[in-house]
Amino acid sequence: ATVIVAIDGPAGTGKSSTSKAVAAKLGLGYLDTGAQYRAITWWMLTSGVDVEDRAAVAGAADKPAIVSGTDPAAPTITVDGADAAGPIRTQEVTSAVSAVSAVPEVRARITELQRSIALTAERGIVVEGRDIGTTVLPDADLKIFLTASPEARAARRSGELKGKDASDLAATQAALAKRDAADSSRKASPLAKADDAVEVDTTDLTLEQVIECVVTLVEE
Ligand code: C5P
Repeated sequence: ATVIVAIDGPAGTGKSSTSKAVAAKLGLGYLDTGAQYRAITWWMLTSGVDVEDRAAVAGAADKPAIVSGTDPAAPTITVDGADAAGPIRTQEVTSAVSAVSAVPEVRARITELQRSIALTAERGIVVEGRDIGTTVLPDADLKIFLTASPEARAARRSGELKGKDASDLAATQAALAKRDAADSSRKASPLAKADDAVEVDTTDLTLEQVIECVVTLVEE
């Protein structure tokens, strides 16, 4: 039997680290849906599409070929055959991704891609994002919604960026809050907890504890 696990939540809650580790432990695939939205955003930015122009973004939504590799030990993402793993993490992409991913044509296109990857995963898959439990895979075997305090999330995110000091922490917290507000308030499939998701507050948990908690829930 295959098992599909949906892990949603805002940025900085440990979604990626948790999802990758759970997938590796259980021998499942891993899909980072945020990377796909970042990839299409990167393509729009480098193709001269005005990301604030919803009609232009909608019209271009089907153009780039986006391919995700689902090995949790070495996830990959390419756009038109080019490795996008580095460029999708730039500040420029992070600032533009909420606007691009709010466009319904973009969501329809990326959602279809996600479903086809998840439903053909050999043993199953852990899919992380914002709307996986609510919209992309409403029949997932297990849905997790990760949360954490704004301070904890900003501290974790800053820790991932080298050479940051205390003043950057406040800026990071503000940037995360802005992105979450945009992701939560858009009309098309916003960041949301599914009614049947298990909410895990990771503020006072180590990564190992969160992983253990999710693995236990899968095995139940
Ligand atoms: O997870 P990550 O922070 O890389 O996601 C980047 C952005 O992609 C989010 O801020 C959100 O705008 C978008 N996203 C989304 N739906 C998902 C996953 C990500 O709209 N399922």
